[in-house]
Amino acid sequence: MSKTVRVRFAPSPTGPLHIGGIRTALFNYLFAKKHNGCFILRIEDTDKNRYVDGAENYIVNALNWCGIPFDEGPGSGVKVGEFGPYRQSERKHLYKQYAEQLIASGHAYYAFDSAERLEAHRRDHEAKGKTFIYNWHNRLKLNNSLSLTAETVKTKLDNGDHYVIRFKSPQDSMLHLKDTIRGAIKIDTNVLDDKVLFKSDGMPTYHLANIVDDHLMEISHVIRGEEWLPSLPLHQLLYDAFGWEAPEFAHLPLILKPTGKGKLSKRDGDKLGFPVFPLEWKDPKTGELSMGYKQEGYFQEAVINFLAFLGWNPGTEQELFSLEGLINAFELEKVNKAGARFDPDKIKWFNHHYMQKQPNDVLAKAFKNSHSELKDIDINYISMVVGLIKERATFISDFWSLTHYFFNAPTQYDEKASKKALKEDTKPILEELITLIDTLKDFQIEPLKTVVKEWITTKEIGFGKVMQPLRLALVGALQGPDVFAIMFMIGKAESLKRIENVLKLL
Ligand code: GLU
Repeated sequence: MSKTVRVRFAPSPTGPLHIGGIRTALFNYLFAKKHNGCFILRIEDTDKNRYVDGAENYIVNALNWCGIPFDEGPGSGVKVGEFGPYRQSERKHLYKQYAEQLIASGHAYYAFDSAERLEAHRRDHEAKGKTFIYNWHNRLKLNNSLSLTAETVKTKLDNGDHYVIRFKSPQDSMLHLKDTIRGAIKIDTNVLDDKVLFKSDGMPTYHLANIVDDHLMEISHVIRGEEWLPSLPLHQLLYDAFGWEAPEFAHLPLILKPTGKGKLSKRDGDKLGFPVFPLEWKDPKTGELSMGYKQEGYFQEAVINFLAFLGWNPGTEQELFSLEGLINAFELEKVNKAGARFDPDKIKWFNHHYMQKQPNDVLAKAFKNSHSELKDIDINYISMVVGLIKERATFISDFWSLTHYFFNAPTQYDEKASKKALKEDTKPILEELITLIDTLKDFQIEPLKTVVKEWITTKEIGFGKVMQPLRLALVGALQGPDVFAIMFMIGKAESLKRIENVLKLL
């Protein structure tokens, strides 16, 4: 890549960041790091009506939790550099001159139409089966600086009349656009409307602020969701009107519901029972709490690995990637056009995998903190227990049900398992087993295993006849890791006590 790569993630703080937003941030980050470039966070907060308290903090926390930090962006501790500030509300003073520049060059105009008049035009068109578009079709019939005299326009502006600045979309021309993922796109400019660029409250709209900032911040590549593709013609026209070189564009595919039909929405999570947000979010207005991947017990590595595959794949069979690995393998050209189905089971699969990679002592600490009964248990013991069962777990919240018998003797026995394990001849077998175990000096896994197995073989008892009631006695069910490992962990006295407890039932 010849030019310096500078990419930005530009969310609007209108609520919590959807998992799709994190995917956009991740692809920007991967692309930037692959090309030794800069990943920028820009907060697009020009729309005061949609501003939600706490949303910006949420965005920053979510990026940090995901491990995709920005090089430039708002907040302390981050390099401001020559391109800041990074909140559009703090750049407010910048935009007006650009809107005026477009008016001066004939690419934009003042429009004074009231919302009511526009609504009336819309209804009028609808009644005739048509769609109202504010563009060359009818702009001369409307209330703007193209249809009014210069004098009237001046008076209106001097009087402080409500106005907007609209872009003057060209008539009868064919726009040739390029998207790295989608290839060449042709658009007839006659279908475009004259979008509002600037409002009389002194605020730019998304389109103007976005283009001005991308230019001033020297953004080289715009990587964003497919929902912004319809804005691309206007954005290209704005670059052309300013005489600026446009960045390269890449529009990421939509994220689809688990059924593969329709876009995954913010509400799907609560409806379908899985998180659609990286972190949990409490709505400041309603107090409603939405689930977050972090709080639901997902590892950040699993979330990242999963998201990377939403619309991208390396073209090989490899599925497990560290962030480093993703940076090396990532190519924008390998991103698909087709929508990516969100599969909540797949992210669990990733979580299970990353669980295995976590050090036992780290998991043990989290487990101990999550469960009151472990308060006084030695962390090294918990750590060994975790090592024995983690291959069966997807979340730390699975641990207790997989391990309680390492800490407490069973108080009840699974009914089905009891029927299966406890037979007529179980009693004498367990009695003999107790005697055998009692004589054992070396209560380590291997010697224990050898002695018990030799006894079973010489006596020709059959493995199931011993191991099943033994497991039931220790665990309360026919589940769990190696029986001898369990005995070793809980110790000789406790093992004997548990076998005796079962004998009492027979
Ligand atoms: N502010 C827009 C958003 O909320 C940014 C779109 C873009 O990246 O151009 O996603």
